[in-house]
Amino acid sequence: MANTEYDVLIVGTGAGGGAVLWRLCEKWKNSGKRIGVVEAGGLVLPTHMNNVATLGGERAVRFAASHKVPFPAIEDPVEFPLAKQVLALGGKTIFWGLVSPRFPPSAFAEWPLSYEEINPYYNIAEQVMNVGPDFFEDSSAQQVLFKRLQENGFPNVIPYPYAVYTKSSKYGKVFSNPFFSSIVFLAYALNLRAFDLAVSARCVRISQDKDKVTGVTVMDPALRSYNIKAKKVVLATSTLENPRLMLASGIPGKAIGHYLTDHSFIVAGGKASRKEFPEIPGIVGLLMPASEHEPFQIQMGGGIGKEVYFQQYQNIPFQEELSLHILGFGEVQPRYENRVFLDPAKRDRYGVPFIKIDFSYSKRDYAVINRMEATLKRFAASAGVTLQKEPGQTEICMRQPGGSIHEAGTCRMGDNPLTSVTNRFGQVHGISGLYVADNSVFPTVSGTNPTLTIVALAIRTADYIALQ
Ligand SMILES: Cc1cc2nc3c(=O)[nH]c(=O)nc-3n(C[C@H](O)[C@H](O)[C@H](O)COP(=O)(O)OP(=O)(O)OC[C@H]3O[C@@H](n4cnc5c(N)ncnc54)[C@H](O)[C@@H]3O)c2cc1C
Repeated sequence: MANTEYDVLIVGTGAGGGAVLWRLCEKWKNSGKRIGVVEAGGLVLPTHMNNVATLGGERAVRFAASHKVPFPAIEDPVEFPLAKQVLALGGKTIFWGLVSPRFPPSAFAEWPLSYEEINPYYNIAEQVMNVGPDFFEDSSAQQVLFKRLQENGFPNVIPYPYAVYTKSSKYGKVFSNPFFSSIVFLAYALNLRAFDLAVSARCVRISQDKDKVTGVTVMDPALRSYNIKAKKVVLATSTLENPRLMLASGIPGKAIGHYLTDHSFIVAGGKASRKEFPEIPGIVGLLMPASEHEPFQIQMGGGIGKEVYFQQYQNIPFQEELSLHILGFGEVQPRYENRVFLDPAKRDRYGVPFIKIDFSYSKRDYAVINRMEATLKRFAASAGVTLQKEPGQTEICMRQPGGSIHEAGTCRMGDNPLTSVTNRFGQVHGISGLYVADNSVFPTVSGTNPTLTIVALAIRTADYIALQ
């Protein structure tokens, strides 16, 4: 790859990087354009964890935990302690929870693009990721709880929009790879045309000449370094690594690393009596979406049945109660003072400075958290679910910052280069050829899971690059 000049070089293969790759391969199918991809991680799994028959129950949880590691290069993680990174082909999408709602139209009020502009890209993202409610269709527990919630104060409740392939093939219902990960993007791309991919290739620097990107420097685990030339570079290494690379490479921009945002995150466990449900209750996935009036989302999952992916190959003893988990994701205001910045005193083994993080909740963030907690309680009560309390804990626990793994905003898009890092298409202000395509470009996070929006925006950025 060091002997090739790429038309586009993509850094990172998570939700954002994978989506850009697939879309560019589609747009540039027979064009002879050269596309390269560098990925710091290795080949951890060839698919989403749920598609692997040997990863069930506790084993899956342990395996995922061993790869969801704390972001290694934070010097002092006190203010953002739970930030996690998955260094792997496919990034976090090989372990993600697949819940894929759209941001509500009101969430785009502070964005440089409207809901109408992103809508066609949401349609494409939903289609390519197979997002739909069908996975929960046959579950009687889902039907019972849905009805209870609808009738008891939550008329807007919906089944999880879930990124899983459920359609029948010509052989009947035969699935080999139903749960979506970014590896599916790689597969689609590979079936369209050739591209070059290096794994265990960590980007350590973005090269520029005057105001133009010229490529990147990558290092392998043996610390050999390679300069890869490219006319355009798409950074998709996520919210903490993107600003680290940009700042360490001397990319100018007052907003780089600032406006770090996240979801405030509360969790509760609950039980419902098994007697209230038919013999085989099935899997549950129900969600109260964030809206103009409620900047938070409540979601409830769990259930019992052979169709629950973790339980497919297990013998489950009869359980008297249905176990459910209830989560709340709250919007956190993007504020300039919440930021990622370099710690020049400490460098990793590749010579890249560590980062430090300043992060705190605002008064409004705490107000959202309080309302979200009260709504979660009402949600559980409406569904007939009794919240459980671990000894010494409260019914509802709040995770520390970073715990939602939905951090965003450090390369936010906007029209003003003083308060944003990229333009409305993900192109970095003032540096021609440099793009960002992942959750770091979000100006705000709504109270909504981010990945569908990451993919929709990344496809839009790829279309823009292809048009150039
Ligand atoms: C357990 C879990 C459950 C989740 N559930 C949901 C859910 O239900 N719904 C939802 O919307 N979201 C969920 N998420 C979050 C979702 O996975 C992320 O929002 C999404 O994957 C982020 O995509 P990304 O492209 O920004 O980053 P990532 O997926 O993290 O991709 C970043 C990529 O960059 C690579 N990389 C990093 N540094 C470098 C470097 N220096 N050089 C080269 N490559 C580099 C990484 O290896 C990785 O491939 C969940 C996450 C986890 C871990």
